[in-house]
Amino acid sequence: MKNNRQKLSVSDYVDGVLDCNRAILAQAITLIESLNEHHRTMADAVLNELLAHNQDSIRIGITGVPGVGKSTFIEKFGKQLTSLNHKVAVLAVDPTSSRSGGSILGDKTRMQELSRDKNAFIRPSPTAGTLGGVTRATRETIVLCEAAGFDVILVETVGVGQSEIMVSQMVDFFLALMLPGAGDELQGIKKGLLEIADMIAVNKADGETKDAARRAVMEYQQALNILNPMSLNWKPRSLSCSAYTGDGISTIWETILDYKKLLKDAGEWQAKRKKQQVEWMWAIVKNRIMSKIETNQNVQRLAPQLEWRVSEAKVTPALAAVKILTAIDSE
Ligand code: GDP
Repeated sequence: MKNNRQKLSVSDYVDGVLDCNRAILAQAITLIESLNEHHRTMADAVLNELLAHNQDSIRIGITGVPGVGKSTFIEKFGKQLTSLNHKVAVLAVDPTSSRSGGSILGDKTRMQELSRDKNAFIRPSPTAGTLGGVTRATRETIVLCEAAGFDVILVETVGVGQSEIMVSQMVDFFLALMLPGAGDELQGIKKGLLEIADMIAVNKADGETKDAARRAVMEYQQALNILNPMSLNWKPRSLSCSAYTGDGISTIWETILDYKKLLKDAGEWQAKRKKQQVEWMWAIVKNRIMSKIETNQNVQRLAPQLEWRVSEAKVTPALAAVKILTAIDSE
């Protein structure tokens, strides 16, 4: 097998990924992250061949503020899963990497033990483009990892802006890690996060923070109970764990397996995945239309003048919008 990316063909990529050749898997991910048109065409062909492999996988989104213990948790959780013969891929959606080039999740020292595990594959967040571009690449990376035989996909993110919502739309199960702060913590938490979480795990339930964690678990459970659950078949749960000692981590996994069984038996599991695929298609359409508008020369020429007239109340936004739409159609 050739190893130079320039020379790999679509079938080289497809075969390499299906063989779980890590070098080729990594190159295939780089290919789908690329913004180059030719790479994009190849990436689409590769993805089309690899779609719908390993349908028995489980995709878990994990979020939490910096410092909550995400990397410590993923290291412990991931090791436990590989010891149960699972193959674990860890991906990241870092909303800061696309904007500043800096990154909250990119630290190379994270998850050192797991990164040496031959049944684990860790890939940092793509940095190219907008958050929409980062999420597209991550969704496609999930397809590649599953085709390579990874059956547990962990998608890590941080609670900034839209990133949590976007990750929740590409996973089967969404886990929010929380600090043991009980009341204070609950005040600060975004209601939107509670609405999309399938489970809250209060981390650092050890040492001095053990009691606070226990109280926080109860408070979160009460808060979850009064919300309308996203799923017809699952009531979101609040649990505690310690990424240090490992306490509670196997219960979290067993609870996720219960969730999978319940939703599969009810037909909701597959229905949710199908719905996510269709929504993904529309998200791509919207993204492409927006970028067409942004690069349309007629629009670029008209925009400053129209924006000024709208802001000065010289024309209604609706009439200005019609002018822009006409300009798009006439190019
Ligand atoms: P991240 O920013 O969310 O990835 O958090 P890290 O995994 O880097 O952890 C942040 C800090 O919390 C580090 O100093 C960890 O050692 C510590 N930490 C992580 N998990 C636990 C835990 O379960 N118990 C305690 N006491 N500390 C933890």
